[in-house]
Amino acid sequence: MRTLDFKDHRRVLGDNRYVYAVVSRRVGGLSIGINLNPDKACNFDCPYCQVDRTVPGGDRQIDLAVLSAELDALLAMVVAGDLWSHAPFDTAAPELRRVGDISFAGDGEPTAAPGFAAAVQAVVDVRARYDLEAVPLSLLTNATLFHLPKVVAGLDVLADAGGQIWAKLDAGTEGWFHRVDGTTMSFERVLSNIQWASERYPVLIQSMFHAFDGVGPTDTEVESWAGRLRDIVAGDGTLIGVQVYTVAREPADPSVTALSQERLAWIAERAMAQGVSAAVY
Ligand code: SF4
Repeated sequence: MRTLDFKDHRRVLGDNRYVYAVVSRRVGGLSIGINLNPDKACNFDCPYCQVDRTVPGGDRQIDLAVLSAELDALLAMVVAGDLWSHAPFDTAAPELRRVGDISFAGDGEPTAAPGFAAAVQAVVDVRARYDLEAVPLSLLTNATLFHLPKVVAGLDVLADAGGQIWAKLDAGTEGWFHRVDGTTMSFERVLSNIQWASERYPVLIQSMFHAFDGVGPTDTEVESWAGRLRDIVAGDGTLIGVQVYTVAREPADPSVTALSQERLAWIAERAMAQGVSAAVY
């Protein structure tokens, strides 16, 4: 569920299996990513996915000791100031030399990882060890597995630590959902999971819109998507807001192309017309 523009700087992070980082002006500091899917497995097959699956992934099991050690080592370097003498972090502006956020955003669906709840707890514990509880924590997810008790356990840990769920909702109809997310899963399952989560946890929606061979979602599709947002809120859900975005880099599927900023702005307006705050990213 890697949708943000993270890059792995292995020169300083060594051969990390789970923890990677980039300096981000948008988050105002170091944006730390936690990849719980080193095996690159995902229950979606989005044509816009940036994960290179032509190169095989690693072990599916999460080694919690290694995960904790990697995050611990990175935070120790940040706190001590050592990180900022290593390329590419040495070019970061002084005001960005801080931890900006920590996201579960990896090479697949994080909630599908074995030991998901324990992994979230491990990250929360290391963050607390450095008195960084104020650093925002988020989970980038496709919302397909919230109905599983073992996933709920992890969502509870995340929410108790002040974290947010950033749920993917790329469509308004089953047909477009199957196409843009490369799945035959039930759209109703995703909608009911987001509804359920939005009544219990802080939920932000991330929506990717793009074209296939120059043909993007129709106005009707976008209106359906906005209607889904309206239904969530009308059904007693609470949404932090919606991030609307398009493909930034060329995906593996050459038919996938970006929408214009004007079209994205119009899409965001459709959400706002339903009373949901939305912004283009
Ligand atoms: S949900 Fe889609 S974009 Fe995210 S990792 Fe899976 S296939 Fe890639």
